[in-house]
Amino acid sequence: RDSKTVIKAAAVKTKVKAKGVLERPSLALGKAVTTVKGISVTTAAKLRKLGVETTRQLCYFFPHRHLDYSRLKHISELTEDSDETIIANVWQVKEVMLGRRRSTEAIVGDETGNIRVVWFNNPYLARSLTTNQHIVLSGRVSLYGGRFVFKSPEWEPLENKELVHTGRLVPVYPLTSGLKPRQMRNIMKEVADNWVEQVTDFLPPELVKRRNFLPLPEALKQAHFPDSQELKWRARQRLAFDELFLLQIGVLKQKKHWQEDNIASPLPADDKVLNSFIAALPFNLTAAQQKVLAEILKDMEQSRPMSRLLQGEVGSGKTVVAAAALLITAARGFQGAFMAPTEILAEQHFASLDKVFNATADSKIEEGYIRRYYGILEKPLTIALLIGDIKGKEKKALQQAIANGEVDIAIGTHALIQKDTSFNKLGLAVIDEQHRFGVEQRAALGKKGKSPHLLIMTATPIPRTLALTLYGELDLSVIDELPPGRQVIKTKWLQAVERSKTYNFISRQVEEGRQAFIICPLVEESEAIQAKAATVEYETLSRDIFPNLKLGLIHGRLSATAKDEVMRLFHDGTLNILVSTPVIEVGIDVPNATVMLVESADRFGVSQLHQFRGRVGRGEHQSYCLLLSDNPSEISKLRLDIIERIQDGFALAEEDLKLRGPGEFFGTRQSGLPDLKMARLTDVKLLETARREAQHLFAEDPELKKEENKLLVEEAKRVWEGKIAAWG
Ligand code: ADP
Ligand code: MG
Repeated sequence: RDSKTVIKAAAVKTKVKAKGVLERPSLALGKAVTTVKGISVTTAAKLRKLGVETTRQLCYFFPHRHLDYSRLKHISELTEDSDETIIANVWQVKEVMLGRRRSTEAIVGDETGNIRVVWFNNPYLARSLTTNQHIVLSGRVSLYGGRFVFKSPEWEPLENKELVHTGRLVPVYPLTSGLKPRQMRNIMKEVADNWVEQVTDFLPPELVKRRNFLPLPEALKQAHFPDSQELKWRARQRLAFDELFLLQIGVLKQKKHWQEDNIASPLPADDKVLNSFIAALPFNLTAAQQKVLAEILKDMEQSRPMSRLLQGEVGSGKTVVAAAALLITAARGFQGAFMAPTEILAEQHFASLDKVFNATADSKIEEGYIRRYYGILEKPLTIALLIGDIKGKEKKALQQAIANGEVDIAIGTHALIQKDTSFNKLGLAVIDEQHRFGVEQRAALGKKGKSPHLLIMTATPIPRTLALTLYGELDLSVIDELPPGRQVIKTKWLQAVERSKTYNFISRQVEEGRQAFIICPLVEESEAIQAKAATVEYETLSRDIFPNLKLGLIHGRLSATAKDEVMRLFHDGTLNILVSTPVIEVGIDVPNATVMLVESADRFGVSQLHQFRGRVGRGEHQSYCLLLSDNPSEISKLRLDIIERIQDGFALAEEDLKLRGPGEFFGTRQSGLPDLKMARLTDVKLLETARREAQHLFAEDPELKKEENKLLVEEAKRVWEGKIAAWG
């Protein structure tokens, strides 16, 4: 009478049943759920609300969790407030009134004692249970009037059949109104017993064997009604592997497609040009910068287009690496495009490139949005800024210069990849702060047949596992080191009552010659509303708080020229404080700024706060990040806490991922990737296994044409649903 015997007997029974099923034609998996025994049209409508319409979806409709009712106890061994399971005889059962609720009460017992059981609001049960019946009870035991009582436990008769609701690991399914746990579980038991066997195992048998995975039908069955914790774990491993493996196959296929169907012009580095560029820099490249630059240049030598993601902490010096790659491109007579997510950043890149190329050049000529540097290449190195603000004739002229190849490096926002801008010989496209560029925008760059090398840069640290999953089609380079002498930015979360103290602190910093940022709350996504809120804040601060200081205001509604002017004034120290909407988030570089004050910090995500923090601590002075938040929610408190504690962007991102879950990790939900039900992106080992297996697959069968991979390819096509061009 121990739980193992009960469960084993049940397992044997299922196997017998399963055999019967195998003999049936397995064609019913795409059918409506009403083909399943026990699902009426009404129930089907409820299931539809849960996103389940076909029998296949039902097989993959997993429980949230399992209640562990697998440990059988005697009544004398029961303890208070824990989930318990007993097998007992019904001595007495009757309908009772408990308060105003018609309920059922029973006294049950085993050889060690008796216990009272109540089912609130359920008078009908009194008629289903009979005296002297043997039942299994699973549920919570509590102490009532000095005695133990089972309150509304799950129960079922102990007959010669498999347990569903008690005495085992019992699945808990998502429900919807009118769909009861017991009914749902009965449906899923039917599915686990008679339907999952029909799901074809699409993994090559050799792989299943090598990795010691459960066969797919068995994994599905165990995911619903596990025979043990171990089998539940193995089921999850198998099903999570499937998801990650199919995902990896998709991204690798995409990468192959990009690299094989597209040809790039090889751009080997001109050592002389490169060396004099590096020698003229005001600093030495860090080892990490040298390493990633080498990786990039190696890619650019190939006739296969580079598709590389460059990750680097805020301030790790990605721009200079990009500059070197763009220069190499120009040295080979090709053009480079350098794209930023905002106009402010595009302008800043224009200024940064000026800083690095000016150091190498003999002389420079400026003509509005074009700069020409002499002495770097045999011809003048020409850089142009093209942003939305530039209109009419001037824009036409710039586009003309880009189209006829006169411009070597074009810097801009999305405007650069709009239809009316074309390049003469685009060799390299650099995209900064990648997460704002969607997949389609990336694709828009690579015109079929003739593709530029592609370098995507991001300062949003993405944990490696996540990067491999989301951007598996890209090669990954990481600048994992900051230039020497960078400081720890003191970060503090403050309550509103401390605001005046905070303002005093800013005043003192300004007296010492430093500058500060004040980020206004994120009001709404609308730029116009943001701008208005920031304007009000700016006026209050100027008038009431810092009447003697010079404040500037920046928001997304200002024209590029106006923004440029404010940034210039802040940069050269004329302004003491810059009040800004969150547009300032990325990339702005003002080394004299030492205070970053963020209002309503709980409204921002961890990575965004980290980006804000990265705006200070860029010079020699101790810097501070002050996060004001009046009334953060529990989850916001956790976030504020980790950002206070952790400086390293990658460690921070790992923590953030744990808090948030992958779907919310900057909108991966809209990323167009297949759904992950079982896999967790924090599961590094499994993710790496999936990636290795996918690489192995392509190595063995580059075209995925082999017979043993046929089912796998079908399944991959199915989950990717035509999202991959190569699969049509
Ligand atoms: P990010 O990676 O955030 O884009 P930037 O490229 O803007 O960083 O670089 C941040 C600052 O560090 C810039 O002022 C840049 O000139 C400087 N910098 C870059 N590389 C080095 C280096 N190796 N040593 C010292 N300073 C550097
Ligand atoms: Mg940058």
